[in-house]
Amino acid sequence: MKKIYWDLDGVLRDLHKVTFINRPTHWGYTENGLDIFDIIGKDYTLLEKAPPTPFCKIAIKQPFVNILTHQPSSWILYTENWIKKYFSSISYNIIYVETRNQKIEIINKENAYLIEDCPLFNDYSRIILIDSPYNKNIKAKYRVKTPKQLEQLLILINKDLIWIKQEIKIISINTN
Ligand SMILES: [Mg+2]
Repeated sequence: MKKIYWDLDGVLRDLHKVTFINRPTHWGYTENGLDIFDIIGKDYTLLEKAPPTPFCKIAIKQPFVNILTHQPSSWILYTENWIKKYFSSISYNIIYVETRNQKIEIINKENAYLIEDCPLFNDYSRIILIDSPYNKNIKAKYRVKTPKQLEQLLILINKDLIWIKQEIKIISINTN
């Protein structure tokens, strides 16, 4: 089985629901001059109150979940409580990285995949991008819009069928 890492915010936890009135249209979105870090900085319990995303139900179907997250150290205590609340029925591991790029270093080193929503990476070759208005301009090899699509993609990756699928695609381009 291929190792799959899950980003937390925007993939498993929906922080936008408890911080903004509208759905963010772009990365760094603000309402009334406040961004997500400003709003959470006023009330850290929002980190515990945030609901799971629709993709979270696919994560908790897995036997083991590797969470790879980049967040302020002041959030971690509250984040741990959120994870305990939703992941108590399965086994999981959490890695807190200090820079965004460390995520790419880890997945490259381990030949792993990362399920992400962030539009700021340099390399999307091993990223499964959760579709969102704020990442719509990113050219991603794997972009998923629904939990069902994510579940099916994970099955293909775990069976190593994803590479076969790509080969077929290449052959069909060559014959046209
Ligand atoms: Mg995220």
